[in-house]
Amino acid sequence: MSGEKPTGLLETEEILPVGAILTGLGKLVVNKDGVIALQPPQNGCKYFLSLAGYEDILHEQETIASFWREAALLCGALGALVFCIALYRAYQRHKEKKRTEEGVDEMQTLCPLSDDEISSERACVICISRLRDCVLLPCGHVCCCFLCFQALPYKLCPICRCHIQRVVPLH
Ligand SMILES: [Zn+2]
Ligand SMILES: [Zn+2]
Repeated sequence: MSGEKPTGLLETEEILPVGAILTGLGKLVVNKDGVIALQPPQNGCKYFLSLAGYEDILHEQETIASFWREAALLCGALGALVFCIALYRAYQRHKEKKRTEEGVDEMQTLCPLSDDEISSERACVICISRLRDCVLLPCGHVCCCFLCFQALPYKLCPICRCHIQRVVPLH
């Protein structure tokens, strides 16, 4: 251990010299014995007794007030920012979840066929851009992709116009 350790604190109190001019801001009351006195206001306002002049006190209080006003504004802005970030993250999570749920569909949508496959007999007869991946029952035609089947206005087979009762995915 080295160095000096403080053993105590020295406090100096200054005595107000006689004849010093004080500025007091408060409530003027008349005591029972007829003496006028200045006392802290009852309505909770601040009570001042200072060596500085009225203008100086006013200026000091305005500085403090503007500091707190700016601090409040800053806190408000920060709060709004945090709220926005939280909202954005929640939205991202929601989007991610939705994407995972629709993952299979999207996989099919995002996998366009190559020209070879399109010209081949494996392409859907409706959109000609995805593979035929379902069997329409009872006729048994394999002619379209599941997305196009879902989009059919009437559930009729595009080849033979028979009423589709069931669809079986093709793997
Ligand atoms: Zn299709
Ligand atoms: Zn059919």
